Amino acid sequence: MTTSQPTDILPIAVVLSAILGLVVGSFLNVVVYRVPAGLSIVSPPSACPRCGAAIRRRDNVPVLSWVILRGKCRDCDTRISVRYPLVEAGTALFFVAIAVRVSAGSVALVATDIGISTVAPVWIPAFLVFLALLYLGE
Ligand SMILES: [Zn+2]
Repeated sequence: MTTSQPTDILPIAVVLSAILGLVVGSFLNVVVYRVPAGLSIVSPPSACPRCGAAIRRRDNVPVLSWVILRGKCRDCDTRISVRYPLVEAGTALFFVAIAVRVSAGSVALVATDIGISTVAPVWIPAFLVFLALLYLGE
């Protein structure tokens, strides 16, 4: 009889963490854009700042929609900053790194194998600085 090891759930934890990170990153984009402007973070739904067209559900998928639309509004071709998918992807990577680290034990060996364990103490704060610079650079 085999017993379940922490490594068995690592792939699932990575996928779920990545999805959660993408959703949180997308929400962070909304918060950072709306809160300083004194706007609600729940309504109205996201719209193009230039033409006012509502962002369709299929155009609101983190990272993927930006790539498919080539960084432009579907309605007026206004450029959409690369900052949005970068924050979404960066937050997903951050969440995956945390999931791998939290798994610890035998999973730590896997993390070391792919270089995350040794690099994490450096790149986690680096990611936070990167995020701050993205927004300060507006
Ligand atoms: Zn537009």
